[in-house]
Amino acid sequence: MMKRWLLLASLCALAACQTVQTTTPGLVGVNRPQSMMISSAEVNASAEAAYQQQVGGAAKKGQVNRDPAQVERVRRIAQRLISQTGAFRPDAPAWKWETNVISAKEVNAWCMPGGKIAVYTGLIERLQPTDDELAAVMGHEIAHALREHGRERVSQAQAQGMIISVLGVATGATQGTLDLTQMVVELTMNLPNSREHETEADRIGVELAARAGYDPRGAITLWEKMGKVGGGQPPEFLSTHPNHATRISDLRVYSAKVLPLYEAARPRR
Ligand SMILES: [Zn+2]
Repeated sequence: MMKRWLLLASLCALAACQTVQTTTPGLVGVNRPQSMMISSAEVNASAEAAYQQQVGGAAKKGQVNRDPAQVERVRRIAQRLISQTGAFRPDAPAWKWETNVISAKEVNAWCMPGGKIAVYTGLIERLQPTDDELAAVMGHEIAHALREHGRERVSQAQAQGMIISVLGVATGATQGTLDLTQMVVELTMNLPNSREHETEADRIGVELAARAGYDPRGAITLWEKMGKVGGGQPPEFLSTHPNHATRISDLRVYSAKVLPLYEAARPRR
């Protein structure tokens, strides 16, 4: 056990891993320090490439932004949320944000590192979300990007990969290669987030929504709807299932906490 700790500590020193605070705590008080082994710039460049692959591929099949009214609605909500991201990190409002609607039956949405957002038509059609509920989904996804959860997960994967390669040198095993772009796709779209990341995204998400003038309690009804859609959910949302009741009760506490922000923002609409 001690040896393992020493190995991790020396790897961390070798790889210049840093402990960072990606966001300020906000009213919801998310303040967990994060260990990073890779720069934001590297992750964001890979995310950009991954985004071009995903959206470019869908566009070739005519599956991007087909319904102008739907696109206008999603972008209007995204824009209002993005305008409030400065409450958590001052650099975020100036990111190269982009929002697209992808025609696909999955109940899905994501925001890649650096601010590339996609909402799937399956989510809109199957959940029939109100604007408050759609703001809850997008606020949650934007929060993952603000917290740089993708960068943190890449860092964790690299730490594990490096341990394997260090042990590999010792045991003569071959070292696997790491395609960062592919990894960003996997982490953003195909692998479930940890419960810890989900909780942080939920809490920051309700505050973003409230600050943007959307009823933060929309998150509660949204996740209730999400719990009822049954099979075919992508991992991003599936990851919530074992703790559905815990999530709803956490959302009740935090949406109540940010309600005054909503009351203050509402008259400005
Ligand atoms: Zn999430």
